Amino acid sequence: MAAGGPDFVSKVRSSVDIVSLISESVPLKKSGRKFRGLCPFHNEKTPSFYVDETKQLFYCFGCGAGGDTFKFVMLREGVEFLEAARLLARRAGVPVPQGGTGQRSSERESLVAACRAAAALYREILVREPQGGPGRNYLEKRGITEATREELGLGFAPDRWDTLRDDLQKQGHRPETLMAAGLLQRREDASGYYDRFRNRIIFPITNLAGDVIGFGGRLIADGEPKYLNSPETLIYNKRENLYGLHHSRQGIKESGEAVVVEGYLDFASLVQAGVKSAVATLGTSFTDEQASLLRRFTEKVVVNYDADNAGENATRRSLEKLLSRGFAVRVLQLPSSKDPDAFLRSASADEYRRLLAESPSCFEFLVQSASRRADLNDPAALGAAAREILPVLAQVPSRLERSRYVALLAERLRVEDALLLAEIRDVMLRGTRESAGSAPAAAPPRAPVALRESEISLVRALVEDEDARARLLNEILPADLEGSPVSAIVSGMASLQHRGMDVTYAGLAAVLPDGERELLARIAMRGDPPSGTDAARRCLESMRRGRLVKERETLQREMEKTSEPGRLNDLLRRKIEISRRIDSMS
Ligand SMILES: [Zn+2]
Repeated sequence: MAAGGPDFVSKVRSSVDIVSLISESVPLKKSGRKFRGLCPFHNEKTPSFYVDETKQLFYCFGCGAGGDTFKFVMLREGVEFLEAARLLARRAGVPVPQGGTGQRSSERESLVAACRAAAALYREILVREPQGGPGRNYLEKRGITEATREELGLGFAPDRWDTLRDDLQKQGHRPETLMAAGLLQRREDASGYYDRFRNRIIFPITNLAGDVIGFGGRLIADGEPKYLNSPETLIYNKRENLYGLHHSRQGIKESGEAVVVEGYLDFASLVQAGVKSAVATLGTSFTDEQASLLRRFTEKVVVNYDADNAGENATRRSLEKLLSRGFAVRVLQLPSSKDPDAFLRSASADEYRRLLAESPSCFEFLVQSASRRADLNDPAALGAAAREILPVLAQVPSRLERSRYVALLAERLRVEDALLLAEIRDVMLRGTRESAGSAPAAAPPRAPVALRESEISLVRALVEDEDARARLLNEILPADLEGSPVSAIVSGMASLQHRGMDVTYAGLAAVLPDGERELLARIAMRGDPPSGTDAARRCLESMRRGRLVKERETLQREMEKTSEPGRLNDLLRRKIEISRRIDSMS
């Protein structure tokens, strides 16, 4: 039985109750036949988050998040479907089939096991072993307490070539696996392997499920490189991970914002200072993937990099990625160009928190940074400053926001709006053309799909009323639902029925893609019971009629544009036919 297989999934589904699952993290109150609470996926003061026990679905009328137990875990833990299934299985005591999804998955599992063993070994050495002494001294000197070391699972790799290799091999890990996990390197003459991390403080990097997937190592002596990271492996991709996100995600949700820093030690110092919402980039400039990842947890970010030139440039690049994904961004630059780690060694946590709370918007940062470097009374410098700032602001997805920034910028730089507007238009046009062919654009902020009453009633009747389903489902043609947001839901029902399976909300949720599952949950949460076969048939008729009316309008528009007699005749004939069908309905 495969881990992703239908047997496993349905077994998990039937052994987890959605109300008790969600109650673990969201206080729910009974409200009519449903349960109600504050949505864990967006900030709200009055509850618009509903859970339906009989349908085993949840839906938030505030942000549109909705689905079944699997979807809830996917959203809450920020994991993919399979991982959500595993987490639920563990919770329900359903055995997870080993290596079921093929060779790649069992290879992944052995790499995760190797990383887990490595983290435990490094940790043990730092905490207990004599050879961990240099590591302990170093962290002592840097002011990282034992509690913080424990909390972050820090470790130490001694200055030897064979510590990890010999120990993990003794535990039964194959050297090829350790190599593939990025823990060993191969000797140049291919005669064997040696430890990648030596004489370094070890920072374990976890994914969102909490598995260790890679390591960062800080050299404790002079030499290069100061920081060494795991290479890309089957389980670790530095572009797609943020150090500390697993640790901080709850804090990020609670505070409503994330603080992005550059280094492992910056992160550790912030954790120690009680700042619970930090994440660190992993020795890269901020990537699109990291921005998307973070967007699952918050829409506000404070960038807190070094305040030196390199740091400012990195900050500016990260702003483009963040703004284009619709984040509200502030920038914190600490006094005397210090990084958070250096700052917190000489100042209090309260002082840091005060500066964090007062940190200016990214717009202020851009203007201040430009005016530090150029005399803005000089027209040439002014133009250069505008050209530096505009491409960043051009990333803001909302047109309204963008024009607000342009007005602000014109005011701050004291130039004529029209001039600046012309410039920004230029930049925007270039921007869109460049992005047209390249990477997929940021997901647009989710606007709830508009649903007609007739669509809602039809779906409800088909799911909840067996008689209506028996009479109507086979009668619905694909064309009837063309362009309707519920068309995938209805064809999902047809395919369940075709396969001889029960048509229920939970069963449907299992076969629908994400967006449709949300829609289904939204429909399922409607209070009033469905209104029987006749009413459902009227809904279907009204949808058919709506589609025909639309078609007739399209034909009419085409007729107005055509001057060619043959084509006009053809359009007219089709229009008359459609009108006849509409008339016969009412
Ligand atoms: Zn919500």
